[in-house]
Amino acid sequence: MTSTRTSTGSQRFVAGPVSSLPTKHGTFAIRSFTVAAVTHTVLTIGEPAECARPLVRVHSECLTGDALGSFRCDCGDQLDAALAEIAAEGHGILVYMSGHEGRGIGLAAKLQAYALQDDGMDTVAANRALGLPDDARDYTAAAEILRELGCSRIRLLTSNPSKQLALEELGIDVADRVRLPVPERPENSAYISSKRQRMNHDAPPESDAGQSPVNLSGFGEDIYASLAANQEVVAQLAQSQDGFIATRTGDACFVSGTTDRTHLHRIRAHVGTVLVGAQTVIADDPQLTVRAVPGTDPVRVVLDPHARVPVTSTVLSTGPTPTLWLIGAEAAPSSHVGGHVRVIRLPSSASPQDIIAVVRGQVAGSVLVEGGGRTVSSFLAAGALDRLFLTTAPVFIGDGVPGIRFQGSEVMAQALRTPFRRFELGEDMCTEYLLSQAAVAHSQPSPGVQEPASVESPQSTQ
Ligand SMILES: [Zn+2]
Repeated sequence: MTSTRTSTGSQRFVAGPVSSLPTKHGTFAIRSFTVAAVTHTVLTIGEPAECARPLVRVHSECLTGDALGSFRCDCGDQLDAALAEIAAEGHGILVYMSGHEGRGIGLAAKLQAYALQDDGMDTVAANRALGLPDDARDYTAAAEILRELGCSRIRLLTSNPSKQLALEELGIDVADRVRLPVPERPENSAYISSKRQRMNHDAPPESDAGQSPVNLSGFGEDIYASLAANQEVVAQLAQSQDGFIATRTGDACFVSGTTDRTHLHRIRAHVGTVLVGAQTVIADDPQLTVRAVPGTDPVRVVLDPHARVPVTSTVLSTGPTPTLWLIGAEAAPSSHVGGHVRVIRLPSSASPQDIIAVVRGQVAGSVLVEGGGRTVSSFLAAGALDRLFLTTAPVFIGDGVPGIRFQGSEVMAQALRTPFRRFELGEDMCTEYLLSQAAVAHSQPSPGVQEPASVESPQSTQ
């Protein structure tokens, strides 16, 4: 969609050309859409039209909050959080709505209302005192833009149920509403509570932290701290109820929900390296950086014995986060890779343990084996993992790219059982398997840990 489209005659809808916008959250594609003579700005990342329910933020312009850093409202924090969430998913859209200043009353009236609020009125009373509606925003252009982008079924990032209703009335199917938790500040807490009491905005979740894996019962910050403090090999994988990580066409956006992805980014922020197989880079072109939470990017490791990964892939072409490109002794890699890439030869027929030793020779800290299914399975089957976070999403794919698969045992008595803990990540269920004595020792005794009837070592599956 790089062409400029105009509806014949009226030019009611004009799409501008696409360019790129590097931001602190990642590089978005940016373009304008002029609808009924009002120009809106649209940021996209990834391929939202290829997602069944892409994450979308329809953000109302707010000069004071978005550009000037005002704490009078929460717009700036919401904009920032929305871009972070969308970038973390890797696919999504932010529609920045012009003409929505002050919930549609315009900048001058908004500043007039501010003056009334300084004298004690709340945000709704001030608008009414000026003879203005509580909310004058119109979302027709947003709905048209989403349809033009091929995204009429979405997950909407908002705490405002009215925005969902407005878009639904305009024909957008809001399959899910994803809350945007933003910090309340002393300067805006009265404003936010007025929006909740008088404009039906969501109250904070029972426990705001309950949405985040940091404070889940039986599962706490100690997990991440343990990864930072020790030299573990940990794997993370999200699969469907029937054990697939993508459909048979390779579509993997998205098996698990945003909370699981936040969990994944939190793991990334606490390990020294993140390792993926060549097929994952070829299929998904991941960034492997930390975006959903604060933290330092791990060194990226691409396990690519035959040097199949294209040099145009994000990990090989985009720094500054370093990438180790692990290739076979015979492989012939392109020399045209970024300065952030170090090419390392693997010993022939390297086992997962050999690969870990090579990585450990380069970078300290825990190693996260992030995918795909084959790579994680081979490390699991080889007994090379200390811990596995396996998230199961309540979805059936039926047929597709398998998650955990390895040559199993013939009898149940020899199947791989280890101590585990479970925790809910939004709609998904994450099971944390403690696969080594070290992982068990690093995990504080907790009522959440369940001992299986018999504990087999991972090696016994070989
Ligand atoms: Zn604002």
